[in-house]
Amino acid sequence: MFYSRYKKLGEEFAVPTDPNIFKQSELLLLNEQLNEGTGLKWQTAEILEYLSGQASLPDSESVSLAYSGHQFGHFNPLLGDGRAHLIGAFTGKDGVAYDIQLKGSGATSFSRGGDGLCVLGPAVREFIMSQAMHSLGVPTTHCLAVLSTGQTVYRQGHVPGAVVARIARSHVRVGSFQLLALRQDSEGMSELLELCINDSFEDITEQGEERVFAFLNRVCQAQCALMLKWLQVGFIHGVMNTDNTLVNGETIDYGPCAMMEGFSFARVFSSIDSQGRYAFGQQPNIASWNCARLAESLLLLCENEEDAIDRFSKSLADFSEAFNQGYRQLWQNKLGLLDWHDEDQSLINELLELMTKHQLDYTNTFAGLTAHTMNTLQEQYPLADELDAWLSKWSARTEQYSTDTMINIMKTVNPALIPRNELVEEIIGDYYRDGKSEQLEDWLIALKSPYEYRSFPHKWLTPQSSTTQYQTFCGT
Ligand code: AMP
Ligand code: MG
Repeated sequence: MFYSRYKKLGEEFAVPTDPNIFKQSELLLLNEQLNEGTGLKWQTAEILEYLSGQASLPDSESVSLAYSGHQFGHFNPLLGDGRAHLIGAFTGKDGVAYDIQLKGSGATSFSRGGDGLCVLGPAVREFIMSQAMHSLGVPTTHCLAVLSTGQTVYRQGHVPGAVVARIARSHVRVGSFQLLALRQDSEGMSELLELCINDSFEDITEQGEERVFAFLNRVCQAQCALMLKWLQVGFIHGVMNTDNTLVNGETIDYGPCAMMEGFSFARVFSSIDSQGRYAFGQQPNIASWNCARLAESLLLLCENEEDAIDRFSKSLADFSEAFNQGYRQLWQNKLGLLDWHDEDQSLINELLELMTKHQLDYTNTFAGLTAHTMNTLQEQYPLADELDAWLSKWSARTEQYSTDTMINIMKTVNPALIPRNELVEEIIGDYYRDGKSEQLEDWLIALKSPYEYRSFPHKWLTPQSSTTQYQTFCGT
């Protein structure tokens, strides 16, 4: 039932490495829906054995993948899984091939002096965030489970260690291609390209070099779609390095991520992003920049460089065009504008300026406009007084529309509930203190239908007070 997916790329790409064995592991969190839905259907005993390194998956060999990466714009020739083990792949009930990866499972040949371990808090964050993002309709890798290791990890002090078990359609990053380009390994790159097409872009039928062009084009489309989804829900990834960018367009690496509350395109949460390279509004540019790094790598597979650069540039230009179109459509949908008038751009700009100036909560403002249109739950999502004049303009602009049609559109893009940063931190605090959290279950159930407008506990809707700036950290 299990197999090794990256083995054919050779041992320099997929390095055989066994995870640590954590004998005192306990299962802290399990995504039962994923366990059932993928057809894994593991019992607790199996989960504990396989994910704590006590047993290896039948018919598969554990590996760590090598990759390069541009980190904050600087090229690092060899990164690789420094604290992760791909223990195997399987074909799910839906016919899709999935990788199972452990993170925090011990040092590998890519650890570069790091301990290869993961701390409990970020593991809990990845579990909550990936589930919430999936329900928000954002393409994402999944978290099957979080296990305690029974050991402590040294960071600023001793903290409990954990293993995250990730399930993803692929772990091929832009950085994976960068590494093969660096090694001038065209055979390996062709192999990797076929693997990606087979796993994520099956409908690519072109052959020869056209296949390479089609691939880049599809990666650009997938990244563009992902950026629009991040913008829609206010997600800030925080560390969009090329090694954290999957070519299939799914979100990976929930390290220093956060949800935007007080609106600003310049919003940054990561402690190390002092230049704002990965700020909320910069993300689409960076995704496009990352696609350009992929294009450069793919040149290895092209005979005529000049011609290939032309073709790749065309895909990158298409990315921008598709993004601009999708971007306009996004705001149009968020405001329930059923058709586009030239003056709508200033209506949108004016709203975003007011939101920035008064630091209005991104989710609650758009949920407020939706609730206002629905004529319900207005007390739950009160609209700021500063918006009064703008609201009159918007009401006049939308007067002609059927409210039902507006509501149907607005409800698909304006979530009523998001995984708020402070609540994630509070739950992490519960886990540190008690090894569990009483408040997580109800919240996770509600987060499964984030576009459902109903009455929620006040706490779930309250942004963090503006006096304390939320900060997140890498490599924790
Ligand atoms: P990230 O910021 O999580 O994407 O990690 C960037 C790189 O650092 C990857 O190669 C990771 O495998 C590696 N890394 C992060 N934390 C650790 C750690 N505790 N031990 C070893 N390698 C790590
Ligand atoms: Mg990473």
